[in-house]
Amino acid sequence: MKKVYKACKICKRLTTEDVCPVHGDEKTREDWFGFLLINDVNSEIAKKAEISKNGLYAIKVRS
Ligand SMILES: [Zn+2]
Repeated sequence: MKKVYKACKICKRLTTEDVCPVHGDEKTREDWFGFLLINDVNSEIAKKAEISKNGLYAIKVRS
């Protein structure tokens, strides 16, 4: 089975789960665009995106 990544609308974190691992009951959605891999939270890009945890993030999540 193919893994489908879904994004949380609040933190934009990508996960294969149906709910965000950070936001508990926030349902993740498949309607997102582009992604960002953060492996250094002190990098400029992480600061700009206000990301404080390493991981995979969507650039845009449609509501
Ligand atoms: Zn979240």
